[in-house]
Amino acid sequence: MRVRDFYSDDPTFLSTDYTAFANYDLRGEPIVHLNRQRISALSAIAQKFVFYHECAHLWTRDDSSNRELSANCAALRHMRRSGIIGHHNAVELRTFIRGLPARPPLYPDGKTQWEKARACR
Ligand SMILES: [Zn+2]
Repeated sequence: MRVRDFYSDDPTFLSTDYTAFANYDLRGEPIVHLNRQRISALSAIAQKFVFYHECAHLWTRDDSSNRELSANCAALRHMRRSGIIGHHNAVELRTFIRGLPARPPLYPDGKTQWEKARACR
């Protein structure tokens, strides 16, 4: 799958506290939307995690109430298999994920997200 990404200029999206989201354009092409200000404040490994998390929504097309955790799972699986996560950045990524706030009902707190994600194979 080809995925386009861009720094969004959509004022509605930029007014939220979301860093990224994924959807399809009018032609059905997948797009990952990024809030430039928010994502550039993250470490390199956290930026990659956010990007692959959004890609995972497009890969999995999971629309269930578990979609955020399954996107985390697919993102980490891809990043491990691609060698993007290694000894040099694994702790930094763990710290990032464990620090994520809970956003009920889709996102449990960061510690729970990490515990679920690290169990993914
Ligand atoms: Zn998500």
